[in-house]
Amino acid sequence: MEVRVSDVKKWAGREESVQVVESWPDEAQARVDYPLANPARVDVRVRNTGGGALIVEVSGTVQAWAVCSRCAESFTIALPFSATEEFRDEAGRNDQSLDYSRFSGDVINLDEVVSDAVGLSFPIAVLCRPDCKGLCPQCGANWNQIECGCRAAVDDRWAQLAQLWVRDTSEPKEELERDNNGRTKT
Ligand SMILES: [Zn+2]
Ligand SMILES: [Zn+2]
Repeated sequence: MEVRVSDVKKWAGREESVQVVESWPDEAQARVDYPLANPARVDVRVRNTGGGALIVEVSGTVQAWAVCSRCAESFTIALPFSATEEFRDEAGRNDQSLDYSRFSGDVINLDEVVSDAVGLSFPIAVLCRPDCKGLCPQCGANWNQIECGCRAAVDDRWAQLAQLWVRDTSEPKEELERDNNGRTKT
């Protein structure tokens, strides 16, 4: 994935915007656990700030076929991404110790900056929706689709715990002598 900079690199203060539409770089797919939907549409803005420096901004939306980490359903996820990187027209290889990237010639390769931005846009755990109810740990039913009978039993236990809690706080005098389990220390 490349952007042509033959014009913008000639004059300080010049700015160009273009949308690059092509397949995601292999490097971007390697960063993400789910298949990315092609083609990529990446908005690229290049600004010449003088002294051979070009500021490259990339942004867009990445779509992928994801699997919900709570209910295991497949769904299409769409995530915004963006990144800014300075490129300098210099001879030599890219060097990690520099806080900019190097380019030479009339094109800048965007694979790395786009792949980094796409990789960072994905959360560690993807959810089909923010309030996904997940699967029943007892029968495996998808709680987004059905109400299984198991849930009531779980709720009963919580209700008993809640009663214990109320009984504890109603005896403030003994509070300091109680440990976290609500029992009196001996
Ligand atoms: Zn889900
Ligand atoms: Zn169940």
